Amino acid sequence: MTGADEAGVVLSGIGWDSHRLAPGRALILGGVHIPAASGPVAHSDGDVLSHAIIDALLGAGGLGDIGQHFPDSEERYRDANSLELLTSVVDIVSAAGLHIINVDATVLAERPRLGPHREGIRATLAGALGLGAPRVNVKATTGEGMGFVGRGEGIAALAVAALRTAG
Ligand code: MG
Repeated sequence: MTGADEAGVVLSGIGWDSHRLAPGRALILGGVHIPAASGPVAHSDGDVLSHAIIDALLGAGGLGDIGQHFPDSEERYRDANSLELLTSVVDIVSAAGLHIINVDATVLAERPRLGPHREGIRATLAGALGLGAPRVNVKATTGEGMGFVGRGEGIAALAVAALRTAG
């Protein structure tokens, strides 16, 4: 947080995350379990969407990144519930005197189709972020058969967040 001269300023941040996929792993996106043949290999629950949003929020606030706050070298974050990590970051942002305006995100996955789960994910994230659903947008796209997403080797998410300084 900076000086009072920045009261009411809007700050933007970007977040990106990707994880390798393996058969038999649970797929969790935005805190929602999605039935799928494969899921992310990760120290935490591998929720790329929550991780991207965390980095977008931290980025907008000038508050570092997910690895600084929740090191994957620490045993206590093994299989961590990323929605709980997101809730912690919402508290960190609030403690810095910043208010979340909106979050927009895109999940990149070849399968499964995420359309049927979109509103559930959106509602779950909105609850964690303390926002109305219209301020939390979740989009999904495939890799059209190209690259690590298209070949089904991994899943990724990209997010942007806007924060407003107090005042
Ligand atoms: Mg991650």
